[in-house]
Amino acid sequence: MLINASPDVIEIEDRVKIIPGANTIITSLDKLINWSRKSSIWPMTFGLACCAIEMMATGASHYDFDRFGIVFRASPRHTDLLIIAGTVTKKMVPVIRRVYDQMPEPRYVMAMGSCACSGGIFNTYSVVQGCDTFLPVDVYVPGCPPKPEALLEGILKLQDKMQKEHFRWSRWR
Ligand code: SF4
Repeated sequence: MLINASPDVIEIEDRVKIIPGANTIITSLDKLINWSRKSSIWPMTFGLACCAIEMMATGASHYDFDRFGIVFRASPRHTDLLIIAGTVTKKMVPVIRRVYDQMPEPRYVMAMGSCACSGGIFNTYSVVQGCDTFLPVDVYVPGCPPKPEALLEGILKLQDKMQKEHFRWSRWR
């Protein structure tokens, strides 16, 4: 819906205006940076158990992560999303934590599957009962395993969260 803000400026959506004939868009830095960030999420290539197979399927041609600008990277220093896909054993905690610590800010964490969210069916001495006990989780994707559609829904939720952030690009925030 087009709303006339003034005779020379047209608001085409919240905080985005165009000046007709001037080939110009007016918006906030928040909006622009959040939009570019959410359109180029680079997750870490990192899987722990069976959920990782579903994550790989989501990246393959049928579901095609690339259409969201999502490209898996093999180095934590290139990534901004850590998808915890699978059962987290206590032995793996320091490894996962090291991967997370090597990622630059801003960084996000997604818990994929019941095991990553809460330990799932493995209420045992060796399994961590939820990766939010040692990482700040942004989005939870439940299921055993969650289908690729569920992971895509989680990505959309994360994009919504990114789009609402304020001053995440500034060190004075
Ligand atoms: S949630 Fe289910 S599919 Fe995923 S890692 Fe755990 S047992 Fe495997």
